[in-house]
Amino acid sequence: MIIKNKDLLCSKAIIGDWCNAFDKSTFNIMNPATNESIGTLPNMGEHETIKAIEIANEAFQMWKNQTVDFRSNILRSWAELIRENKDDLAVIMTMEQGKTIKESIGEIVYSASFLDWYAEEAQRPIGRMMPAHQTDQKILITHEPLGVGATITPWNFPALMVMREVAPALAAGCTVVIKPSELTPLTPLALVKLAIDAGLPLGVLSVITGDKKNTPKIGDVLTSHLKINKISFTGSTATGIMLAKKAMESVKKMSLELGGNAPFIVFDDADIDAALTGLISSKYRNSGQACVATNRVFIQKGIYNDFIVKFIKKVELLKVGNGLDADVDMGPLISIEASENMENYIKDSLLKGGELLTGGKRHKLGKSFFEPTVIANASDEMMPCQCEIFGPLTMIQKFDSEEEVIKLANNSIHGLAAYFYSNDRKRSWRVSEALKAGIIGENTVSFSTPRAPFGGYKQSGIGRNGGSEGLVEWQEVKYRCIGDLN
Ligand code: ADP
Repeated sequence: MIIKNKDLLCSKAIIGDWCNAFDKSTFNIMNPATNESIGTLPNMGEHETIKAIEIANEAFQMWKNQTVDFRSNILRSWAELIRENKDDLAVIMTMEQGKTIKESIGEIVYSASFLDWYAEEAQRPIGRMMPAHQTDQKILITHEPLGVGATITPWNFPALMVMREVAPALAAGCTVVIKPSELTPLTPLALVKLAIDAGLPLGVLSVITGDKKNTPKIGDVLTSHLKINKISFTGSTATGIMLAKKAMESVKKMSLELGGNAPFIVFDDADIDAALTGLISSKYRNSGQACVATNRVFIQKGIYNDFIVKFIKKVELLKVGNGLDADVDMGPLISIEASENMENYIKDSLLKGGELLTGGKRHKLGKSFFEPTVIANASDEMMPCQCEIFGPLTMIQKFDSEEEVIKLANNSIHGLAAYFYSNDRKRSWRVSEALKAGIIGENTVSFSTPRAPFGGYKQSGIGRNGGSEGLVEWQEVKYRCIGDLN
């Protein structure tokens, strides 16, 4: 597949304007399907990060004072340009991340919808008046842009993880320094290029690029610099906690979207076909590399055997290959290490009594490709039931009662997404209320929309992306008490 608009394949970062690292050093971006380099980018560090923050701070003074119409019009034009260039953007994403081209197009279009939504949402009321507690007073509560933010994003959804942060941030009047994953920086750079083409003033968004070694240096500046008012981070719980500790030293606002360990429960009374379709999608989409991907599957005993037979048939039909090939269902994992993790999880599960039903090893296509795998007889002691699998491995357990499965499902430090299938409306209410998760998929796994808040309970994070909640994350609340009015 060919990229028609070659300008979208960037070779520089953006700090105010397009630029190289101060010392001109670069690093390679690799294609996980072929293990070949697809480009080089500036390998930046502390000094470039400080410069980006200073430029973002200057730009903030200008950006926050624009009318909401001015900002919203730019967001709308940006969304249009993204849609016009969706095929090229998708090729770039598949080349650096590995997911299928169909999934990449879906992610690009979905990312643009955050701009549409926040271009509108920014026009809603930004305050309220309350009855005063003295006769000579008035009370006003207003929302203001919170300033310069930094967003640190992962590789699994290179466009979405950036856009769901910068859309509300820009709409609110904030400026943002973006630190994309060192593995997938080309997609965010291409998106920001289109933002500038759409009229976004230089400096409002910067993108700092740096390799794995330089990333902590960039992170140290972002989390400690006094002109950064907020850090938004999406990634592992361990890295999130480490960054949060640093950011707390200067009491920055934080939003964290961390790991998940989503349960997927199918009750005896469920629509089995709908549950099977949902499970295939929520488990094997993006090769299982999603924080909301199903991590543990619980099937009630009355339908267990029938469900397993049908599920294995579907899994064995999944076609693995280079995401650029049109008829592929599942691309490679992000790296060879990710395949090694899968091997360790499978080994541990089989040692502890798991039963391998299909798959179980690397795919013949190459070291970062893995066979869609299913293990039955899973239990909480097995490694992949305790942590985020981030790979195409399904862990299945049989259960007897609703009470038992709720306990099992909630037995995790995480609480991001949870799915269940049931056609009993009384049960559905009970289960929805009992599951400790920020997102509940009830007879569905397709919950994604910019209109609803996305985020987790427990160690899955702090704050929400999307919905009106996502805008408030980029605002400060000011209480004005106005006296002497009689
Ligand atoms: P993964 O290793 O699966 O990418 P991480 O949570 O370690 O998960 O990383 C998520 C994102 O956080 C990545 O973009 C990575 O570059 C970034 N990151 C990791 N460590 C740091 C750090 N010390 N400072 C800033 N960013 C970091």
